[in-house]
Amino acid sequence: MITIPKGTKDVLPGESYRWQYLEEKARAVSKRYCLKEVRTPTFEHTELFNRGVGDTTDIVNKEMYTFLDKGDRSITLKPEGTAGVARMFIENGLTGGVLPAKLYYITPAFRYERPQAGRLREFHQFGVEFFGSPSPDADAEVIMLANDFLKDVGIDEVELNINSIGCKHCRPKYNEALRDYYRPHLGEVCPTCRERFEKNPLRLLDCKEETCHEIAKNAPVITDYLCEECERHFKGVRELLDACGISYKINPNIVRGLDYYSKTVFEFVSTAIGSQGTVCGGGRYDTLIENLGGSPTPAVGFAAGLERLILLMQNTGVSFGEEPVPEVYLAGMDELSRKKAFAVAKTLRENGIVADTDHMNRSIKAQFKYAGKIGAKFVATIGSSELEGGFMNVKNMATSESVKVPFDEAVTYFKKGEK
Ligand code: ATP
Ligand code: MG
Repeated sequence: MITIPKGTKDVLPGESYRWQYLEEKARAVSKRYCLKEVRTPTFEHTELFNRGVGDTTDIVNKEMYTFLDKGDRSITLKPEGTAGVARMFIENGLTGGVLPAKLYYITPAFRYERPQAGRLREFHQFGVEFFGSPSPDADAEVIMLANDFLKDVGIDEVELNINSIGCKHCRPKYNEALRDYYRPHLGEVCPTCRERFEKNPLRLLDCKEETCHEIAKNAPVITDYLCEECERHFKGVRELLDACGISYKINPNIVRGLDYYSKTVFEFVSTAIGSQGTVCGGGRYDTLIENLGGSPTPAVGFAAGLERLILLMQNTGVSFGEEPVPEVYLAGMDELSRKKAFAVAKTLRENGIVADTDHMNRSIKAQFKYAGKIGAKFVATIGSSELEGGFMNVKNMATSESVKVPFDEAVTYFKKGEK
């Protein structure tokens, strides 16, 4: 038997309503905040991610699905959503359009990682990007949107962590302080951290290795090194969150996994799903668009991992809404009645009523059994006497009560039931 590739998952028919629930919440909150959806290709030129995600990141160094296509081009399956959206934004001249541009996407992403709970090789993200505003208002609105999304979904077991990682003016001084701190520990940190020590010491704070994590705890904190502008910006974000009653923790060890961040970074973290606790992460990336060849355009955004959200919801008993069930199952007893059942089903469906009927030439008993299995609220039976009398026998499956409903009143009857 051919089996599913490691690190990927099927969404089974009994599970898809959960995905739809999350996706509907994502779309609804995006709409309320006046965002527009964008869709970009599943694969891009590898160069986009090398430059857009950054060549000191785990994603680019270890995790990308990269291959040569038949035309010898280096192609990569998108490991995240931002780089593609930024490319689209530049390529279509949107940097000179109406700003700020507030965009969202729901996309699969691919990373060659060690699969475990909450860590897959193909996973899905709901992401948001605001282009054009350098103001703390944009950061605060992005965070508020993420917060509202999680609240709408029904998740409250998450903690919002925020930090500022400075800019090109203040980060160099902090990087020096970090190097001074880490130099005596270089023998203890993991080989990857040793490599990143020179190029991007900030990354060392983010390492998941136990020893590195311990050492990071006593490292100097970036918030002590922020320049006036970054300090002011960070204060602005916090004041807006305070004004909206959003609680958060300032966590100087949040630096985020991608290279392009500056100023605000944030994560929503849960303790209910083990070590893969970050369900949503984001921040400001004012240099990304410029690095990719666009005119300088400040930006801020986030991405939430849908698999991790589903895991968190399952582990904490959050409801996914009701699994939709058919309103009515039309059961025909003989050949003529079956045709009538088929036709009534069509009329009901045309009127927005969820209706089903038999395809398997089953006995009436077996049809009832099937209707029970799919959870139909009503079963409408049609036989020769019903055909003659112009009605059907409608049984309420919950109460077992039966009533006669004329064919020409079927739509009204079930419309009422749906309320
Ligand atoms: P982590 O530190 O857990 O590896 P990350 O910093 O690599 O996360 P981002 O690149 O910020 O993650 O991606 C945004 C979100 O996408 C994460 O917060 C997480 O919810 C989700 N995510 C990232 N990688 C995976 C994966 N391999 N499988 C499932 N979800 C993922
Ligand atoms: Mg990662």
